[in-house]
Amino acid sequence: MNKLHKLLFFSIFPILHTSSIAVAQTFDEVEINVYPVAGQVYYIEGRGGNIGLFVGADGVFLVDDQFAPLTDKIVAAIRPLSDKPVRFIVNTHLHPDHTGGNENFGKMGALIFGHDNVRHQMEISAYTQEPPLITYSQDVSFHINGETVHVFKTPDAHTNGDSYIYFKGSNVIHAGDVYRTTSYPYIDINNGGSFLGTIKALELLVDVSDDDTKIIPGHGVISGAGEVQAFLDMLLVIRDRVKVSIKAGMSLQETQAAGLTKEYDERWESGRRIGSSAALIGAAYADLMN
Ligand SMILES: [Zn+2]
Repeated sequence: MNKLHKLLFFSIFPILHTSSIAVAQTFDEVEINVYPVAGQVYYIEGRGGNIGLFVGADGVFLVDDQFAPLTDKIVAAIRPLSDKPVRFIVNTHLHPDHTGGNENFGKMGALIFGHDNVRHQMEISAYTQEPPLITYSQDVSFHINGETVHVFKTPDAHTNGDSYIYFKGSNVIHAGDVYRTTSYPYIDINNGGSFLGTIKALELLVDVSDDDTKIIPGHGVISGAGEVQAFLDMLLVIRDRVKVSIKAGMSLQETQAAGLTKEYDERWESGRRIGSSAALIGAAYADLMN
């Protein structure tokens, strides 16, 4: 080891060490809260994507499962509502903050479902999370707890494996990360996401909803179809503005710097890459150039 390497090795090591402790501590500090949505459906907030919770005589059904270190706390949070086993989990898409608990819940006997592309994309993108055990190409229905739960693929949007989970009796839809109330939509282009597909998927979400439907976003708070429509209208405005700048021969950098989202930024800009205006415009630009 030469002097420079030695210096780097000994100076970097303590930083890595402290940050892994910091991560463990932050999971210890995560509080799990359960909120009623409608009928027999609840949502669980902790760290990562919102979990959909559906309870009844036949057992517990979950939509997504956050991170592995949170599994025990999630189970403890479910217990006041149901002492039945977690029988089924549907992954809305592949991201680790929605699938990190798969392995733990699988070991407890839960059957994990997801679209074909969730499993496929986890393999080719070298994800370390446990993929869904059972996959479907279009849709699948569960007939439990006295109602039908229809799970169906959306147009490629946040990723190429997004599904909506529609609890028909309770009139609740879990929309995964196609819809979020915390920031601009994030389009994961590396996993087959699409800006124009997001518009189509949000149109579908509005179409299948009625005035009373409650929508659980992947991140954020319960919404109605009117709020989804407003989010969609914003994307349509942004789409049209990006079209105009492409027509005017502007580069991606120029388009990102043109203030095309300025009246929306205060409400929707995340301030980091995921959920930023720049990333959204990047995805729109890529789609509209084709
Ligand atoms: Zn996601």
